[in-house]
Amino acid sequence: MTQMCECGCGSEAQVKHTDLYEEKIVYFLCRNCEISFVCCNLTPSQFKELMEKGHTDKEFMLHGDFYDEEGVALQPTEVRRRFK
Ligand SMILES: [Zn+2]
Repeated sequence: MTQMCECGCGSEAQVKHTDLYEEKIVYFLCRNCEISFVCCNLTPSQFKELMEKGHTDKEFMLHGDFYDEEGVALQPTEVRRRFK
């Protein structure tokens, strides 16, 4: 079975991320969503999709300092600044 990106974008997952603190927590993402994920810049719909896949806002990359309850990014990192 093909693993789909957990952000609900409809693409196949291309990368696997492991939570910084909890090895059991893994995320399967496509490269587009990976950028938003590592930049703490997921959209509310991507965030909700991860919650529906069983992730929680207790996980480091999704916790309350980065996103509010609606999944609005609070500390997005600019992709350009980060990858220049
Ligand atoms: Zn994706």
